[in-house]
Amino acid sequence: DDGLRMNAVTVRYGSTTVLSEVDLEVPRGEVLAVLGPSGCGKSTLLRTVAGLESLAAGEVRFDGRDLSGVPVHRRGFGMVFQDGQLFGHRDVAGNVEFALRMRGVGRKRRRAEVDRLLDLVGLAGYQRRRVRQLSGGQAQRVALARALAAEPRMLLLDEPLSGLDRALRDRLTVDLARLLSAEDSPTAVMVTHDLDEAFALADRVAVLHEGRVLQTDEPRRLWRAP
Ligand code: ADP
Ligand code: ADP
Repeated sequence: DDGLRMNAVTVRYGSTTVLSEVDLEVPRGEVLAVLGPSGCGKSTLLRTVAGLESLAAGEVRFDGRDLSGVPVHRRGFGMVFQDGQLFGHRDVAGNVEFALRMRGVGRKRRRAEVDRLLDLVGLAGYQRRRVRQLSGGQAQRVALARALAAEPRMLLLDEPLSGLDRALRDRLTVDLARLLSAEDSPTAVMVTHDLDEAFALADRVAVLHEGRVLQTDEPRRLWRAP
């Protein structure tokens, strides 16, 4: 029973049902991509797992434990949501270091860990760079490094590659695929509207339409438009 499980989860905004009886399972270490058009409920699903939405019905479980009543910061999940989550007044190292300090990692090990994580996301040597001076892709890498620094039990990624130019996206896709398939890599849920992204990164894909899961399968088994 290790990993994430959503059982008949329903989320409403007022009288609008945004997620409707969603059943999903992500075994430990696996990557699930949630695919679907804009407005189908992908971000809401991610926010629900994070603990940022209240459920109208159903339950979210992690490693066999019901998460209802477990607040966001107690879930131990790392989130890489779109734009604006870095500390603009700190440099790159400071942003990653923050997560390490939250874990109580000592100063000396923090330095080594910052270096290791920046290396991992392809930003070796960027420690002193101001966050404001980074490109969108670099900022997303820093956000990812910071999320990993927290050693999350699960990674929640909201369109991690959107808004990047083609070359950067291709490179980050390779990096992410390596990260997510590593031994002991965290369980991950990734939201995207890009089929290629899902193909490259996910073990399984769930197709969402108007708040309902239409299909869940391995990427290669999904029907693809010619
Ligand atoms: P996606 O991420 O797939 O684009 P969202 O989860 O952001 O979809 O949104 C799903 C639906 O919920 C949309 O119809 C959107 O308009 C609606 N919605 C999202 N956030 C709110 C909110 N805070 N209040 C009311 N409706 C919302
Ligand atoms: P703060 O200034 O936020 O209070 P500290 O005094 O604990 O933080 O120092 C953290 C600072 O150390 C970061 O802002 C960063 O500039 C620097 N730093 C941490 N790790 C490294 C590293 N590996 N390489 C270079 N600089 C680092």
